[in-house]
Amino acid sequence: MSADFSALRAQFPLLARELGGRRIAWLDNASTTPRPRAVLEALREYHEQYSANVHRGVHALAAEASERFEAARDEVANFLGASSSEIVFTSGTTEAANLVAGALGLAPQDEVLLTGAEHHSNLLPWRQRCATRVLELDERGTPLYAGLAGLFTPRTRLVAVHHASNVLGAIAPLREISALAHARGIPVFVDGAQGAGHLALDVRELECDFYAFSGHKLGGPSGSGALYAREDWLERLAPQRWGGGMVARVDAQGCELRSGPQRFEAGTPNVEGVLGLAAALRLLREIGMPQVEQHGRELARALLEERAHLPGVRLLGPVDAAARIPLVALALPPRGLDAETAARTLSDAFGVLVSAGRHCAHPLHDACGVEATLRASAWVHNDLDDVRRFGEALRGLIA
Ligand code: PMP
Repeated sequence: MSADFSALRAQFPLLARELGGRRIAWLDNASTTPRPRAVLEALREYHEQYSANVHRGVHALAAEASERFEAARDEVANFLGASSSEIVFTSGTTEAANLVAGALGLAPQDEVLLTGAEHHSNLLPWRQRCATRVLELDERGTPLYAGLAGLFTPRTRLVAVHHASNVLGAIAPLREISALAHARGIPVFVDGAQGAGHLALDVRELECDFYAFSGHKLGGPSGSGALYAREDWLERLAPQRWGGGMVARVDAQGCELRSGPQRFEAGTPNVEGVLGLAAALRLLREIGMPQVEQHGRELARALLEERAHLPGVRLLGPVDAAARIPLVALALPPRGLDAETAARTLSDAFGVLVSAGRHCAHPLHDACGVEATLRASAWVHNDLDDVRRFGEALRGLIA
């Protein structure tokens, strides 16, 4: 493991905390990540130095806040390989999916194609408005993408798919999916909540039309996030929220909308959230996303290796580390310790923090015939020792 990554842990103040006298092994990054010092500093600096509203005031601090806010948009665009005019700030992936679902004007007779492995946030926004057709899964829960071509009908309006699954850890073949969809004139929405913090990104290369992610899954503040919408789409979408900040002019008769992404950002935005998000992305840029990806593969390999030494434990998702982000969801042996009790014991007795339950992916758990899973998810601050401690502690609990 490279020296840079071993030093990175010190940049996350939360990880200096101990639980029961033990160093924390934070393996709950798929739920949310600890925040690095750079993000905390950006928040503090905003509040202490220039906490003005953006795009409204004319005084010096308002200008400074507005400039930094727009510089954050540039940082997000750079992170995604997009241009700034294609970036809408949101409160996270859930809001982005809801925005696109509303903005496309989906009607009950329309169909959105999904996989059976989607997070509820990439299922319910569509299902509330129209019909869905769902790609089947194999016995490990991995979507059977070969079946995708057969799901398109004349009513298909969109394909909505995860970049990486929050349960399977599986990375979706986005380029192939986009090619299939585009050959039929259908756009692709990517739920990047679990992909963005792990995988080097270029939305042009992925050829997706929409890409959404959440700040808190990559070191940023809660309630921050962004939606990429390819320029031609952005121009065609209808705003879903109305109010100040999105209009160039309002008179008694009507209003003239601002051009560009600000049309979708009515009201005072989450300024500090956006600035914190940019700080998180800057840190990832400094580390280098190819390095993050490589580190993730090593952690994924280590997680799979630990699982191989857990008797009777079933792994959901692919067995190949290269097909995964560093996340494993495990079904514990029946009639043994349940996942929730295991997670609480790992925390209280070992200082190892993981998730347990159905991870907002009930249909996936139902399809796999699994009541609940124990999920360990690593990120840039983790090392092989964290993974080993997880494996060792769980082995002890199962025995
Ligand atoms: N999609 C996936 C795959 C996720 O893991 C999550 C968060 N658990 C979401 C969507 C929703 O993200 P947020 O709650 O930040 O909107």
